[in-house]
Amino acid sequence: MTAQLDAPHDLVGIGIGPSNLSLAALAHGLPHQGAGELATVFYEQRRDFRWHPGLLIEGATLQVPFLADLVTLADPASPWSFLSYLKHKERLYPFYFAEQFHIHRAEYDAYCRWVAGRVPGLHFGHQVDAVRWNPERDLFEVDFTQLDPAGEAEALGRTYTRNLALGIGTAPHVPEPLRPLAEAPTVPVIHSADYLDNRQRILGAEHVTVIGSGQSGAEVFLDLLRARPTGRERLTWLARTPSFAPMEYSKLGLEHFTPDYTRYFHSLPEPVRDHLVPAQWQLHKGIDTATIAAIHDELYRRTLDGGWPDAVLTPGVTVRTAGRVATTKVELHLEHAEQGARSRLTTDAVVLATGYKERPLTRLLAGLDPYLRKDSSGRPRIDDRYRMILDPSVTGSIFVQNGERHTHGVGAPDLGLAAWRSAAILNTLTGKEAYPQPPRTAFTTFGLEQREHTRPRPAGELLPLVEHP
Ligand SMILES: Cc1cc2nc3c(=O)[nH]c(=O)nc-3n(C[C@H](O)[C@H](O)[C@H](O)COP(=O)(O)OP(=O)(O)OC[C@H]3O[C@@H](n4cnc5c(N)ncnc54)[C@H](O)[C@@H]3O)c2cc1C
Repeated sequence: MTAQLDAPHDLVGIGIGPSNLSLAALAHGLPHQGAGELATVFYEQRRDFRWHPGLLIEGATLQVPFLADLVTLADPASPWSFLSYLKHKERLYPFYFAEQFHIHRAEYDAYCRWVAGRVPGLHFGHQVDAVRWNPERDLFEVDFTQLDPAGEAEALGRTYTRNLALGIGTAPHVPEPLRPLAEAPTVPVIHSADYLDNRQRILGAEHVTVIGSGQSGAEVFLDLLRARPTGRERLTWLARTPSFAPMEYSKLGLEHFTPDYTRYFHSLPEPVRDHLVPAQWQLHKGIDTATIAAIHDELYRRTLDGGWPDAVLTPGVTVRTAGRVATTKVELHLEHAEQGARSRLTTDAVVLATGYKERPLTRLLAGLDPYLRKDSSGRPRIDDRYRMILDPSVTGSIFVQNGERHTHGVGAPDLGLAAWRSAAILNTLTGKEAYPQPPRTAFTTFGLEQREHTRPRPAGELLPLVEHP
């Protein structure tokens, strides 16, 4: 069966994670440039909304305040806010007295599922396969596969749209040396994204190694530590970073996650931007201090009767290669750069908390390639309104949500910027200030020139002198 949906939409969203769910929620009910409402439709390959289900570890919280919900930072009066969700669930008073700025991750997931179940025009179980530009009709063609509950193809379809919003997010990253092991079903070598589904299997292993010093690695290590008997923990936690470093969480440091910083970052030359993103790793790759404290508390508690927990925590270590020994065990070949030393570790299970990578756009956008303008590394160029820069003959826009770290900086995946970005997209799309956005959002002035356009200048005041090298 092939579905043909001919009437063009104003916007088709690909992927329904928090980024595009925010866009769908803020778009709901917005007037079209002409008459009627904006016609939007969103497609998601999963059967229903799920937010990182493998890491909804009991007690784990968001790293951002609840105000970073899908809509509040653009429109606090939206019916799709977290507070509206609590009101609907008759839980406002308990939340008020809980005084929790950082809500449980499971609660954020439940809130998003509540929104996803109510906002119209969301299609789950639909995988978008290809996008093309049709110059005769001045429309994008979007090909999708409708999937059955088992994830098998059920029907093919095509829809047409004037604009697109790519919100396909990130996929778990497994380092090259560990890929063959992660793909072998007999050895428990899993990515942290699949942790909860495999937790019992991992806990049943004699010795477990966790690799990776980000928030996920820390949460998995803590969960395993709490579940293992004192003195018989049999855990190793290895990290490539030189220390188990805390995430930057100072109030001025957090201003890197403001629209002001995003605007500044976007204005920088490409080589400077490329240098900055890895240099700012502690803004997004560290461990939150409460988790570090909880790990230390748990380890300390296990020394109260004397002795040390059977747990090894070593930063500065790279896994060079890995292999299977005696069918059920894994051997990791390790290197410590500072020491210039190498060793081997035999373990029974490995959890790879090795992060995520942006999903590649190449296959999805192959049909659009002649129209895409790219930077010197072959990445799409994206303007300050989150639009891919396209050949001028293309009248529609392709908006990018959480695929613009190379042009917009470390805030691209941050939930605290999602509502702002959705609002900016909708303002561009409708040609109106559907969601007015303040010109200034940070106390820090990033760069010398930005001051000119963020601070209203009294008549007659001289401009600060900015020297260009
Ligand atoms: C465990 C974890 C915790 C995090 N916690 C925080 C936090 O506390 N605060 C914070 O600011 N950030 C956090 N982040 C980072 C980030 O904000 C979130 O990961 C967020 O999910 C990003 O949303 P997204 O919609 O951009 O992408 P995703 O959530 O990855 O969603 C993309 C969706 O697109 C779908 N998709 C992909 N390709 C297609 C296709 N071809 N057709 C149809 N659908 C497709 C995918 O199935 C997926 O559901 C966290 C990340 C992780 C991994």
